[in-house]
Formats: sequence, structure tokens, C-alpha cells
Amino acid sequence: MEDAKRYWSKGLEEVPAYVPGEQPRGEGWIKLNTNENPYGPSPKAIEAAREAMGDRLRLYPEPSGKVVRDAVADVHGVDPEDVFTGNGSDEILAFAFRAFFDRGSPILFPDVTYSFYPIWARAFSLPFRTVPLREDFSLDPEDYRGALGGIIFPNPNAPTARALELGSVERILSRNPDCLVLVDEAYIDFGGRSAMPLTRRFPNLLVVHTLSKSRSLAGLRAAFAVGSPGLVPALERVRDWYNSYTLDSIAQAAAAAAIRDVEWTAEISRKIQSTRDRFASELVDQDWSVVPSCANFLFAAHPRLPSKDLQAALRERRILVRAFSGLRLERHVRISIGTDAEMDEVAKVVRSL
Ligand SMILES: *Cc1c(COP(=O)(O)O)cnc(C)c1O
Repeated sequence: MEDAKRYWSKGLEEVPAYVPGEQPRGEGWIKLNTNENPYGPSPKAIEAAREAMGDRLRLYPEPSGKVVRDAVADVHGVDPEDVFTGNGSDEILAFAFRAFFDRGSPILFPDVTYSFYPIWARAFSLPFRTVPLREDFSLDPEDYRGALGGIIFPNPNAPTARALELGSVERILSRNPDCLVLVDEAYIDFGGRSAMPLTRRFPNLLVVHTLSKSRSLAGLRAAFAVGSPGLVPALERVRDWYNSYTLDSIAQAAAAAAIRDVEWTAEISRKIQSTRDRFASELVDQDWSVVPSCANFLFAAHPRLPSKDLQAALRERRILVRAFSGLRLERHVRISIGTDAEMDEVAKVVRSL
């Protein structure tokens, strides 16, 4: 095994491996560690996937994901030319790092953020600098002045769950006209405001959405980005180096139907937000400190237990949450929001600890 590493490409081993959240075997788990949606996807999406499953699978899919781009254009009022589709937003984000950030200056992103960003920067040998969030985990747009190599942040941020107002996103865009600003809106449907309309006013904006969270389609692997005019061709070039058919025909059909079913998304997002707010007050009642959340998860600290101990104690009771290591993070766990019944059970268990 070790010996085989001498065949690995140079530098590969030095790029830290991404550690995904645990996918447990067996039944009876309350799984709140990967921000999956507890409600099913739109029945219209399932139906569309079923219809796409037939003889036509012998053909290659339409390469640009046209049905998905048209759905995004119709629902969000953008030009389909400015929409890019991908096999999950992780793929689009990786392409974007390669397409926009290779500019000889550091990429800026928050110190507490999506753990994939430093991995992609390292994978593509791109310099980066992390920008500390304020003590309360909020982001100060003034800290991003004068960036040259690119800027990326999730809004709402992960794992902090805090949203940034649109005015602040706008300030970052207008103060950094010479580099691309990438807003990762994986959780935007749970209470934030999308920067997508700003693609009309700012030439340097790429907004990335996923169907994994608010559309409850993590297993499908589908996502899209909306960019200022002229940005999408850069992503297409990078994509085609790796795989010119990233979205298969079944995923395209299901994704388009899911995007068009805005009522379904709104309904399940509303339920999750109401469960979240109820569960947050419950934790506050138990003296936890809870970061205000605009996402489908809470970032919260137990009054006494360090996060690793808390995670282990919950795991013994078949409840999975995510703990982090590193400065400023060892007190907080990230708890995805499940159904009301699941969160009531979690509330009961944490009360007993
Ligand atoms: C979940 C998540 C993604 C990735 O989602 P995909 O399933 O790859 O679409 C991207 N960014 C953030 C911040 C996320 O939490």
C-alpha cells in the first residue's frame, strides 16, 4: 500500500483528504450530520426521473443540461446562457476554482467556512488567505477590500449558519471589481436572500446553488450556477477537460422538474425553518449558545461539554451530529434540522446529558 504511493503524482499526498460526514449502516439513526433534508424530494421530480428511465438512455445526454438551464431561467428570471449545470455544487465549485482563481494572488475566504475551499485551493496549487470572522461569526465586508485573486464565501455561511445581508454582498462586489466573487448559496432557501439578481449589475459575480439541501436531492447530484454574462464559457471549458456530460439524462429530467416545483421547495423549507426556530429556543432554554441560523442546521455550543464529547455522547444514543476541530470550533457542533419528532427526541436526549 505505502509502496504504491511512489506512483502518485507529485504533491498529491500533501493535499489534505476531505472527510465526508458518516453515512451509518442499519436503521434507527437520527442522522443530523450532513444537512440532508428530512422530507422527500418533489414527487414531480421522481416522476420525471422515472420517465427518463428508458430506451433513450442509450443516447448521450444533452451536454449543457438545457432542460435544467431553461428551468432556472424561467424560475429565476435569468438568461439561460448565464446558467451552468453540474453534478452537485462541489463539482461546480471545483471547476470555478480552476476557471477563475488562477491569478497569482491569494483567494480570500472566511477562516470558519466550508472545509472544501482550502482543499480545492491546494489541489489546484492556488494561494489563499483566510479572513477571520468577527467573534460572533459574522462576516465584515470591509475585510475583503482589495482582493485580487478572488473571493468565495457561502451565504448563509457553513458551518456557522449565519446569513450575510444582500447589501454586504453588494459592497464586496463593488469594492472588488477586478476579481471574481463566488457566492455559494447552498442554504439560501432557508431564510437568506439570493445574490442572483446582482449578476445583472455586477460583471464579477458567480452564484452557485445545489439541489441537495432545499430540494432534498442529495442523492441525485445536481446543482447549477448563475453568472454574470460571459462567465459560463470559462466553466464549460474546465468541465470539458474532465467530463463533458456531467449531468446524466435522468438527473437532468429530475432536476428540471424539482427546480420548477417551487411550491414543494417553499413548503418543506418553511417546515424546516419552523422546526429549526423551535429547536433553537429549546437549546437556548438549556443554556446553549446558538448562532442565529438562516440555514437547515444550527451551529451551537453546549454550556459545558466540548463538541467531541457531546458528539460521542449523542452517537451512543444513535444521534449523529457534526463536530469540528480547530481554533474557535471545539465548543460548537453542527446539528442538521430533521423532522419535529426527531428534534423533540434530540431535545430530550440533550436535556438528559
Ligand atoms: C452541502 C454543500 C455544498 C455541496 O453540495 P452538493 O451536494 O455537492 O451540491 C456546497 N457548499 C456548501 C457550503 C455546502 O454545505
